[in-house]
Amino acid sequence: MKDCNCIFCKIADGKIPSAKVYEDDRMLVFKDIEPKAKVHLLAIGKDHFKLLSEMDSERAELLSYMFSKIPQIAEQNGCKNGYRLVINQGDDAGQTVFHLHIHILGGEQLPW
Ligand code: AMP
Ligand code: ZN
Repeated sequence: MKDCNCIFCKIADGKIPSAKVYEDDRMLVFKDIEPKAKVHLLAIGKDHFKLLSEMDSERAELLSYMFSKIPQIAEQNGCKNGYRLVINQGDDAGQTVFHLHIHILGGEQLPW
């Protein structure tokens, strides 16, 4: 991650500021800079990988850890009544940042 030229690695390293709502040694959750819902958070792992298709057992373990943390983080940040998790995988899904991330959307009745 140290020399990685990836915006989310730079956020994880503190080189680019972000509105963090949760951090531990394995993951970070921060507010999306262009929110698409009243609450729009992004959860990232601190190990860089681009795509869900690069999954292996170590990365799957990290994702599993992230999923174990997300419910409490979502509820503590305004998503008490439900939320949606989204992973955009690749160009057809409109993925723009190639560091795997989970969108957490909620805080209101989602319109779609
Ligand atoms: P995706 O389209 O799934 O790759 O999502 C990338 C998300 O990252 C978009 O919703 C962007 O608004 C968000 N984003 C890009 N740069 C930043 C940043 N510096 N801080 C917070 N969110 C960002
Ligand atoms: Zn990265």
